Amino acid sequence: MKIANKKVTAERLVKDALAKAKHFEDYHIFTFIDEEGALKRAREIDAKIAKGEDVGRLAGVPYALKDNFLSPRGETTASAHILEGFTAPVTATSVKKLEDEGAIMIGRTNLDAFAHGSSTENSYFGPTLNSHDRERVAGGSSGGSAVAVALDIVEFATGTDTGGSIRQPASFNGIYGLKPTYGTISRYGVVAMASSTDCIGFFTKTPEDMDLLMSVASGQDPKDMTTLPDYYNTEAGAKSDNSRLAPSRPSLRGSGAHSAPVVADGLESSDSCTRTIGIIKEFDNESVHPEIRRALKEKCELLKKKGHEIVELEMPALKYGLAAYYILVPAEVASNLSRHDGVRYGFRSDKAVDVDSMYGETRSEGFMPENKRRIMIGNFVLSSGFYDAYFLKAAKARTLIVEEYAKAFSKCDFILTPVSPNPAFKLGEKVDDPVAMYLEDVMSVSLNLAGVPGLAIPAGETPEGISLGLQLVGPRRSDKALLEFAKELE
Ligand code: GLN
Repeated sequence: MKIANKKVTAERLVKDALAKAKHFEDYHIFTFIDEEGALKRAREIDAKIAKGEDVGRLAGVPYALKDNFLSPRGETTASAHILEGFTAPVTATSVKKLEDEGAIMIGRTNLDAFAHGSSTENSYFGPTLNSHDRERVAGGSSGGSAVAVALDIVEFATGTDTGGSIRQPASFNGIYGLKPTYGTISRYGVVAMASSTDCIGFFTKTPEDMDLLMSVASGQDPKDMTTLPDYYNTEAGAKSDNSRLAPSRPSLRGSGAHSAPVVADGLESSDSCTRTIGIIKEFDNESVHPEIRRALKEKCELLKKKGHEIVELEMPALKYGLAAYYILVPAEVASNLSRHDGVRYGFRSDKAVDVDSMYGETRSEGFMPENKRRIMIGNFVLSSGFYDAYFLKAAKARTLIVEEYAKAFSKCDFILTPVSPNPAFKLGEKVDDPVAMYLEDVMSVSLNLAGVPGLAIPAGETPEGISLGLQLVGPRRSDKALLEFAKELE
């Protein structure tokens, strides 16, 4: 059993999860725990099971919700002071889909405020601790979700990935984290960071669980016009946007997937086939931690042993990735955060004496320093006189990156790269040095700019027991094939 074990009651599962959450309280994983609500849901599900009613594919499975997903259960704070006291009037589409299948949210997890960061240290609630080493960061921004899964508190957790926020904390904690193809899962009801790169995804302990969650959550949503038609649950899901990946097998999904009570059977039943895996030359250099380079080499050896081919790729346009990301994303951040002014949501400063000072004081007290930095950078790069030099140039670089990936996927099926240049760093080590923190994202952000999927997979540990991770990257809409391939590497 990986996910829904029908042999125990939902109430038992939820009680165990709540007890573990309490046990790890000092890790700052949760911003809110809904003991009463979760137990109520569990009892309802148990009653339905007793009556023989249909309870869904995730019945009774406890999960944790990143605190930037809207739901009326508990305040949605995005770990930011400015949203304190805000209870959402709507439920995110992804949350609704999970709950319709019987999953039970036990609490909301900590993040870098508004998902700005790579360590969960930018949270109004304090940093989440790494699951393997309490002196190290959890990664971010979805640090709470990653640690909740890694410490086995819940079976899965939700995350958002705008530039690495699922993959990097997954790799810092030794679990799986998927950033799907842009548009696969509806963004409706999730606090927007940068709308053109924001992706909804999950943390799990296995690729099979990830597959099940993807099949539940994927699909077009009239409330998010950027969602793609549901490719994940159709024959097309096996093909992706890259003809190289046209399946040499029938559908990756077994016919009974929609009624399967535990794990969709598509992954198990498919026969394996030989793949060509690209390694990015530009990401193999002295600035990458030796343990990460070793892990990558070992994985390549394993792939070769299994009969797959490794090819080296030159992807020079990726060198513009980080700079382009830290122009384009703050520009969207500045726009998306303009709605927080003390009028409609959450916190309002009591220092205000008129309307102007209400906006000003609320925003200066309510945002974290990193939020303000991005608002300033964003407004700067969009301002007249600088727009062409920064925003427009970054937009052009983004196009080069999209083309670079397309070119790469004409030579290989998947790409294997580190998620970040270093394993989990020490708490406090980079938090006062924004550039050092941004540099940790150098290998993750280009996927978001290109809209391609990336799956963080565990890749062992350092001699000191710090988790290592790598990411498998595929062409757009190859998410299903990516998970299938990951299963082979388990
Ligand atoms: N670390 C990146 C940033 O701070 C990514 C954040 C994210 O994916 N939400 O922008």
